[in-house]
Amino acid sequence: MKGKIFNIQRLSYHDGPGIRTTVFLRGCNLRCAWCHNPESQSPKPQLAYYRSSCTGCGICIEHCEKGAITINDGVIDYDRSKCENCGNCADYCVANARRYENREMTAEALVKLLLKDKAYYDKSGGGVTFSGGEPFLQKEFLIEALQLCRESGLHTAVETALCIPSDSLREAAPYVDLFMFDMKAMDDDAHRKATGASNKQILANIKLLSELGADGLIRIPIVKGLNDSEENLKATAEFLLRETSFTCVEPLKLHTLATSKYDSLGMDDTLSGFESTDDETYTCVCNMLEAYGIHVIINK
Ligand code: SF4
Ligand code: SF4
Repeated sequence: MKGKIFNIQRLSYHDGPGIRTTVFLRGCNLRCAWCHNPESQSPKPQLAYYRSSCTGCGICIEHCEKGAITINDGVIDYDRSKCENCGNCADYCVANARRYENREMTAEALVKLLLKDKAYYDKSGGGVTFSGGEPFLQKEFLIEALQLCRESGLHTAVETALCIPSDSLREAAPYVDLFMFDMKAMDDDAHRKATGASNKQILANIKLLSELGADGLIRIPIVKGLNDSEENLKATAEFLLRETSFTCVEPLKLHTLATSKYDSLGMDDTLSGFESTDDETYTCVCNMLEAYGIHVIINK
């Protein structure tokens, strides 16, 4: 079986302990309005076109059999309705204005690639992180890759939204050293509106991870009006302290740097409707969590 991967990021410092390689798997079953990886959402590869990087050389035109690219008065016109996302044009764009991130590879081939940086992992206490999208949407591939990593002595982390069947977690848990997941909102209606899904399965899975004795890094992406209220933070703390053995949370500042990705993919830009988290709000959220008994990890 081959996994569908949209990016492999080597020498990553933000996706778990030490120096890591992060493998981003395609497809997501949530639609968080503040998503920073909109290119991960579709299970199928998409062509991204960054107009600001385009030099107007026109080379891509002759490599598009679908007639999706034309030039008018020296300006490139890209008709997305004619584009079939074959990715051919991206191979010829030296300006990197056309990008087509798509890899399909077996778990064996992936782990062989991951092992190239083993010396860095070993020296820094790092390893491999599977992210997405939702990596569990490719469960068979994920678990096979995790098993091979484990056999190769690689530390494994999985970044998941946990909106997945509990059996998938049980199956994967023996091969995962660290689960990384968000707590987005405790109010179910608010969670549904913001992400398109209920939080019930997610909360049940957090409890399950605790029961399994799994190591977890819990993050709260601070979204103004969704989860920065005292009511939500108190409910978050109470849930963790009452229902689980997890006592640490890492609040994350929201930033809006990824808005150009939406335009490049022809998607509605839902991210620009949000404000970046300012220092004052960040400190306030940290203080409230601490007041309710949660140990806060400051994100640097
Ligand atoms: S090849 Fe790239 S830089 Fe040249 S016109 Fe096409 S998109 Fe623009
Ligand atoms: S991805 Fe394929 S169909 Fe779409 S513009 Fe490029 S060459 Fe044409």
